[in-house]
Amino acid sequence: MPTHTIQDADHMSKAAPNKFVINSLVLKKGKTKSRVVCDIDKVTFNKRKRENVVENHKIFFEAPAEYTKYLVHERCDAFVVLVLRYSLSHGYNIESAVPMSEDLYFNITERLLPNLVKNGGYDILINVETAPPLPPGTAVGTGISCGVDCFNTIVRFLDHPIESYRLTHLCINNVGAFNSVYRRVGKQVAHDESYRRAEMAAKEIGLPLIETDSNVTDLYVESHLYSHNYSSAFAVLCMKKLWRCYLYSSSGEDFVSNFTLKNYLSHDSSRYELLLYSCFSTSSLTLITEGDYMSRFEKIERISDYPPATKYLYSCVLKDKNCGRCSKCLRNLLALDALGKLDRFDGDYDIAAYRNRRERNLRYLIKKKETEFFKPTYEAMVRKKDKDLLMIENGVKRRYERLCAAGSYAEAVELVAPYATSDLWAARRVALS
Ligand SMILES: [Zn+2]
Repeated sequence: MPTHTIQDADHMSKAAPNKFVINSLVLKKGKTKSRVVCDIDKVTFNKRKRENVVENHKIFFEAPAEYTKYLVHERCDAFVVLVLRYSLSHGYNIESAVPMSEDLYFNITERLLPNLVKNGGYDILINVETAPPLPPGTAVGTGISCGVDCFNTIVRFLDHPIESYRLTHLCINNVGAFNSVYRRVGKQVAHDESYRRAEMAAKEIGLPLIETDSNVTDLYVESHLYSHNYSSAFAVLCMKKLWRCYLYSSSGEDFVSNFTLKNYLSHDSSRYELLLYSCFSTSSLTLITEGDYMSRFEKIERISDYPPATKYLYSCVLKDKNCGRCSKCLRNLLALDALGKLDRFDGDYDIAAYRNRRERNLRYLIKKKETEFFKPTYEAMVRKKDKDLLMIENGVKRRYERLCAAGSYAEAVELVAPYATSDLWAARRVALS
């Protein structure tokens, strides 16, 4: 039985006191949906009682029945990846009665773990039998959350010049994304609305949508921010017999130029997805992070003329439809405003409401102008010499109000004349006076 342990003279990590034990992996065929069910024990050493506490879980991954033959039950790969981060942070070794693909085992134990453990976490062991990898699939897929990043990937790969990298399928998975972020909307409402939106968008895009489900969050509770790359790879590996290539839309921050594993357990897993997906990729499956070289603003520019994006782009964390006021909605709206593309998204967002609050929205942009997500939008607004933005930044409105209050209307109008727009404050005030 191959085992892995980290050997590093400088390394001070601790041995893991707990373990996950994968007892079995079974394919259950259904008329409309099929699932793989993993019988897994979570064995935790109770320090006070000095005994092991065993929790047994039946973790499933479900897909439409037409995809039954692609569900992987012969290898434990997906479930090892699923528990990997939690194991590192909470000290769980991994054992399995189901074999693991030898290429993935090699990549994780020889390439990934030595680098991760060196930078934090427990020195975990993976005790599994290995077996030759399963035959490769042929499909090229990506997730469809209907966010900016995902539409950017779709636009880029729908008609990719290299045919073998063109998208063939879209997916929506339930592997932890519908969490407390949606507490105001309600997790179930967020889930149902996301699936409904994905169905409509996929129909318009013209690709089959694979809707899957899982109860992975029953196994352990962990911040989705820290673990989303692992759970996304889990969903891909559960259907590895389908995929040849899977595109994972990066988050809009440049984690390639700024790659680091320092304190990786305390950060968004996107920060080191370059290494993760390199190691989860094998000769039969390529996981690609797409768009990591682009700013969110550049992505919005790319998708702003794509009809499905103009109808189904979704960014909100407060409501099941775009509220137009939360930071994520405003991020998109301000970028579209800077690009002069707001009207294309009318219906998907309440553009009239945005325009009514434009001054307040621009003040928000100015406040955020040094942050990675807003800086390119601010710079675009400055480049196009947006008069309202300049007026706010130059404190013109305050001076204008003072002049009006003093009855110096002519001087006030002269002050704002260089910034004149159709909804000129000066004209309104003069007309009302
Ligand atoms: Zn919102």
